Amino acid sequence: MLDNRLTARSTTTQATTAVRVAGEIIGGSAFTVIAGPCSVEGREMLLSSAASVRSSGARLLRGGAFKPRTSPYAFRGLGASALEMLAEAREVTGLPVVTELMDARDIDAVDAVADVIQIGARNMQNFSLLAAVGERRTPVLLKRGMSATVNELLLAAEHIMAHGNSQVILCERGIRTFETSTRNTLDISAIPVLKQETHLPVIVDPSHAAGRADLVPALAAAAVAVGADGLIVEVHPDPATALSDGAQSLTFAAFAEMMRRLGPLALMCGRQLDIPIAIPLEARADGVQSALRVCA
Ligand code: PEP
Ligand code: MN
Repeated sequence: MLDNRLTARSTTTQATTAVRVAGEIIGGSAFTVIAGPCSVEGREMLLSSAASVRSSGARLLRGGAFKPRTSPYAFRGLGASALEMLAEAREVTGLPVVTELMDARDIDAVDAVADVIQIGARNMQNFSLLAAVGERRTPVLLKRGMSATVNELLLAAEHIMAHGNSQVILCERGIRTFETSTRNTLDISAIPVLKQETHLPVIVDPSHAAGRADLVPALAAAAVAVGADGLIVEVHPDPATALSDGAQSLTFAAFAEMMRRLGPLALMCGRQLDIPIAIPLEARADGVQSALRVCA
């Protein structure tokens, strides 16, 4: 029998354990969207991405400083300088930062900036890395390994919690199957299964699942419909020139459009997804552009 004493939902009525991140609550009544580039490629692209996704309703900013890449010759992230850019983007936009930790030797540098530490699919069973983030109190976004079962994902989360960090968010990001029309197969069933099995919040990454930007909105809508607590989505100012994962990255406009469509769907599913709307200049007595939070 699976011994997941810390991650297990003890009763069917037990509420999801909300993970609090710098004023944001993941796993509460809101449907929380994390968005930003796959990799931090520079200051300007990060700041423009952060401002744009924020104006479209994202509540946290993603961006990789240390990138796990299949080829050793591919862009592997800007490292420490990307962390500084992420800190600046948070300062400017107020969005909390989600960034990946690949190597326990970088934990102090990453933890100094990250509001949420991401553990990537390739490291889901890197038990010393899980122990290292388990010793911290920074929330952890744990991505499902590409060939990991739901139980293995739960036990990986259990490792983090057994070390004392109870702030864990699970992420379904697609698994390897025989299918080649998508990069991975989004295991949509895993979301209701996880919601039954664990009290931890569960989010979906439609970008790495699809591997194709055109499919991302449909998978995101599916995530809302099956009861996910949020999304993590890749967005890039010019996907064609992205240094990683351009094919699956949404443009600013495509992300904005997807968010507009998800708002009413989330409401229908009993979740709030607030989209800030810019007040037209002429509607403001003082003529200053501003933003107002309203429900989509
Ligand atoms: C990422 O989020 O950019 C990433 C590398 O994701 P995954 O670990 O799910 O492949
Ligand atoms: Mn990526």
